[in-house]
Amino acid sequence: MSFTLAFLSIYFFLSALLAVFFAAYAISKGTTTLVKVFFSLCLLVSVYLFGYLLELNSSSLPQMMFWNQIQYIGIPFYPALWLLLSLIYTKTIKNFSRNTFFAIFTVPILTFLMQLTNPMHHFYYKSLMLKKAFGLNFLTFDKEPWYLFYCIYITLYFLIAISCYIKSYRRVADFERSGYKIMILASLLPFISFELVLMNPGNLSINYVALILPFSFSLILIAIFKYDFLALKTLARDVLFEKSSDAMILIDNTSRLMDYNPAAAELFQELNNSMKGRTIEFILGNQIDLLKILNTNDISDIKISNGVSYGYFEVKTVTIKNDFGNIVGRLINLINITERKHDQEALKILASTDALTSLYNRNRFMQLAKLQMECAFDYNTSFTLLMIDIDHFKHINDTNGHAAGDAVLAYLGCEMKQYFRKTDIIGRLGGEEFAVILPSTSLDAAKNITEFFCDMVSKEPIICGNKPIYFTLSIGISVYDRRLKTFGEVLKLADEALYESKKNGRNRVTVKVLN
Ligand code: GH3
Ligand code: MG
Ligand code: MG
Repeated sequence: MSFTLAFLSIYFFLSALLAVFFAAYAISKGTTTLVKVFFSLCLLVSVYLFGYLLELNSSSLPQMMFWNQIQYIGIPFYPALWLLLSLIYTKTIKNFSRNTFFAIFTVPILTFLMQLTNPMHHFYYKSLMLKKAFGLNFLTFDKEPWYLFYCIYITLYFLIAISCYIKSYRRVADFERSGYKIMILASLLPFISFELVLMNPGNLSINYVALILPFSFSLILIAIFKYDFLALKTLARDVLFEKSSDAMILIDNTSRLMDYNPAAAELFQELNNSMKGRTIEFILGNQIDLLKILNTNDISDIKISNGVSYGYFEVKTVTIKNDFGNIVGRLINLINITERKHDQEALKILASTDALTSLYNRNRFMQLAKLQMECAFDYNTSFTLLMIDIDHFKHINDTNGHAAGDAVLAYLGCEMKQYFRKTDIIGRLGGEEFAVILPSTSLDAAKNITEFFCDMVSKEPIICGNKPIYFTLSIGISVYDRRLKTFGEVLKLADEALYESKKNGRNRVTVKVLN
């Protein structure tokens, strides 16, 4: 055995072994698509290198042809996996779908079959010949159309892979760039060596690709251990990022978009791969509230609308530092609190309204009345207060049942809402007692409005179980006057007026003002 053959044999043996070690190491660390693709790539390259090692060590043409055949388990497929690796690593594609598989693997599969069945059609090569150089045996062959097609495919795949890395290199943060530089170089080496095989300088028929692949793999080794290529260290974090129901957006220290998760893409239609590298202000320019929070670094709730629906989100930003403690970016976390917000609003409504009539309950009415007092005092305006009580309500309950009584209360609440203005404050103070504040309304106007209402209610029965129930109201009116210091005093006057209405025969309106 010549020295050159011995040296090359050791070289290819160790290289093939290294590729198997890579495959085992990667798969032991995780099972992401990226890892699976890398695993397959390592195994196929290993088969290729072992095949080449044994081809070199063969002494006859049939032996060489056999080992050449073995190499073809790897040769057509490794460029496809190399491309797939770049597409996934650079996130050019997010998922490995059936369509992606067909698009990338159709030519490699056909090439494999063409080579296998070559003796039948000779589309791949005409004949294989044994050639001696440097004391070694090499295989050469006359290239036929499919081989040329295969050359174009390999060139194209490597070019796409390299351009993917270069495109992403421009978009990523500075701290990520070293990993990309290595991956660009690792992809350039087999590409250049394949072109050398095609040019075949000196007609030496050297397989430069097989020679250079171990160097490429060594570079990938550096990328894995030094720059976390395959994201093995960050695997758990990545899964958390991808699967989180909270929207997450990663920006660098100059506000350029680095990454985002599916929840963020769902929330903001503006987020897509082509936006990576652009500033967040450019991409989400219409989300003014969000951008404000990002500038202040506060934790805050905001309403976000995507044109179709809206939701409430709690926005948190987390500063990301590198190993040296320098700030390299920020993670924007948007937690959907729409349901919580709606629950809070529902609770608020529940706490302030009367369930039967949907009017303000006593508590809320008194709060609003107090505000109305302050407003009238500050702006020197006035308001009118109505106290309304259903006449002989006990009798309605007794003759028609409690449920009919409830229906009367609900009906009256509804009538009041329809009759009075949006700006009037209507409340159920308890039982069959109601109160209305008519802001900025003169006493005369209030009296007319109220008398009309009182008359209207007395004439319109409510139909309960096919039976009409007529009922009347007694109403007392008072007017706010600056001499009245509390709302209680205004209420007392209206109550006295109501008592007068009752005393004078019910179904009437009485006014009582401060003398
Ligand atoms: P008046 O003309 O003097 O106001 O007599 P009234 O019967 O209307 O007044 P009274 O205070 O004697 O009776 C009020 C009744 O209202 C007694 C109570 O059972 C009934 N009531 C209070 N709250 C409700 C309710 O939510 N639903 C029903 N159905 N009845 C209620
Ligand atoms: Mg009463
Ligand atoms: Mg009553």
